[in-house]
Amino acid sequence: MKIFCVGRNYVDHAKELGNDVPDEPVIFLKPKSAFLQPHMPFYYPEFTNELHYEAELVLRVSKNGKYVQEKHASKYYNGITVGIDFTARDLQQKLKEKGLPWELAKAWDNSAAVGKFMDIKPGMNFNDINFCLYNNKELVQQGNSGQMIFTFDQIVAYVSQFFSLNIGDLIFTGTPAGVGECVVGDQLEAFIEDDSLLEVEIK
Ligand code: MG
Repeated sequence: MKIFCVGRNYVDHAKELGNDVPDEPVIFLKPKSAFLQPHMPFYYPEFTNELHYEAELVLRVSKNGKYVQEKHASKYYNGITVGIDFTARDLQQKLKEKGLPWELAKAWDNSAAVGKFMDIKPGMNFNDINFCLYNNKELVQQGNSGQMIFTFDQIVAYVSQFFSLNIGDLIFTGTPAGVGECVVGDQLEAFIEDDSLLEVEIK
């Protein structure tokens, strides 16, 4: 299983971190060991003092493929949920300043929390999916797939030029504005529309 992630896919989020709006998708990967098994505890990592949540829509790849054309891309995923791309923001800032890769800040064990998948139904409007994240019952992030710079299909087509897509791979499609810090004891809960799909407590 591979976990693809898109960075800076929402204009407001790119700006809140002082980044340019990209003209091609910004892609990075997390290894399988980054996948937080459902209902497993999440422990605050010892190598950061600034752990951030990033709530994102996540797609489940359902078909193997390479060089997928955008017009066929929707056949390559069959599930959607919300996930949290946990980020050691202090480390990421240091790495970015040096122009170094982000893995140490992004790809560590259990850094990819993934909610319960909803099956994608025919006719689902991918350009109008609302999702949000609550921290301790307070709304902290709110997004709509229509705000994405690159659509699901564009991301799938782009990624598949470089990497084989395999059944079970996951794609984190980017976070909207409102990323922020979480601390030990925080209770995160993420929704698509009114469906609560993910709960994570920071231990
Ligand atoms: Mg992210």
